[in-house]
Amino acid sequence: MTRHQGITNNILQLVGQTPLVKLHQITKDFQGEFYAKLEAFNPGHSAKDRIALHIIEDAEKKGIIKKGSTIVETTSGNTGFSLAMISIVKGYKCILAVSDKSSVDKIDMLKSMGAEVHICPAYVAPDDPRSYYSVAKAIHKKTKNSVYINQYFNELNIEAHYRTTGPEIWEQTNGKITHLIAASGTGGTISGSGKYLKEQNPDIKIMGVDAIGSVLKKYHETGVFDKNEISPYKIEGLGKNLIPSATDFDVIDIYEKVSDKEAALTAREIVKGEGIFAGYTSGAVVQAAKQFAAQNYFDKDSVVVLIFPDHGSRYMNKIYSDAWMKAQGFFE
Ligand code: PMP
Repeated sequence: MTRHQGITNNILQLVGQTPLVKLHQITKDFQGEFYAKLEAFNPGHSAKDRIALHIIEDAEKKGIIKKGSTIVETTSGNTGFSLAMISIVKGYKCILAVSDKSSVDKIDMLKSMGAEVHICPAYVAPDDPRSYYSVAKAIHKKTKNSVYINQYFNELNIEAHYRTTGPEIWEQTNGKITHLIAASGTGGTISGSGKYLKEQNPDIKIMGVDAIGSVLKKYHETGVFDKNEISPYKIEGLGKNLIPSATDFDVIDIYEKVSDKEAALTAREIVKGEGIFAGYTSGAVVQAAKQFAAQNYFDKDSVVVLIFPDHGSRYMNKIYSDAWMKAQGFFE
């Protein structure tokens, strides 16, 4: 596999083929080997470049959009950045409905990338007209020649990771991977890469990371959508208050829930221990690995791949701000 050799025609050609880096300090007390797949090496600095490019190019192939068309989406920020980047290169207008839980940095970044941003309340029901789903749908309906990316309910989200992330991990580990740990938001990353990996070796354990305050783990275990599981939490991009069809629950063996505090403190440990400036959900994924290790899920032969979805620079006013951490009561 080669990256960045010679001349690249445009930035979109740099999507995918992200590095897999061995972890040393933060996993030293666990049995097995641990590797982080650094999705921040995508040009839009997150795994979302993969799905954004795949869904847009699929719509182009089907003749649904052409230069000048409008891309509409609901997004916690990362998908929006990827869509805005692709829209610039390909000549589309980009309109985004964003949760008011998203960091100010993320929203400013989207605006700097030329996107039109609509900020919507995070804690309303998905069918509430103020929700980012309703707002995006309404914009799509009234905008001619527009495509609604609909990442939570789009099969192409899973397919993007099935075609790229999964095969990359299989190749990079020479087929030795035994466990995959990934954050579950839309579920596209874990479902697509998990499906590909299980097809290569059905014994690979696919382990999802959910947030305390989200319905995914309980739904996976019981098949019941339990509203009582829903409560506010701080981690962006992880967990959900609905059941996304972009999650293939059959592919996932087990879910682990993590707390806002532990995920934030673990993200800081990743930086100090590995020199990797990890995003909040990368902290969540390593925190889940700690919890799985404590339950003896790994042995000396385990080859565990952790997907690090994005970069810490997106959270300067949150987990990397001492003042924010103190205000949340995350420092003892
Ligand atoms: N981490 C971050 C920072 C994200 O933005 C997302 C996407 N919502 C995820 C993890 C989860 O990825 P997926 O949507 O593929 O489940």
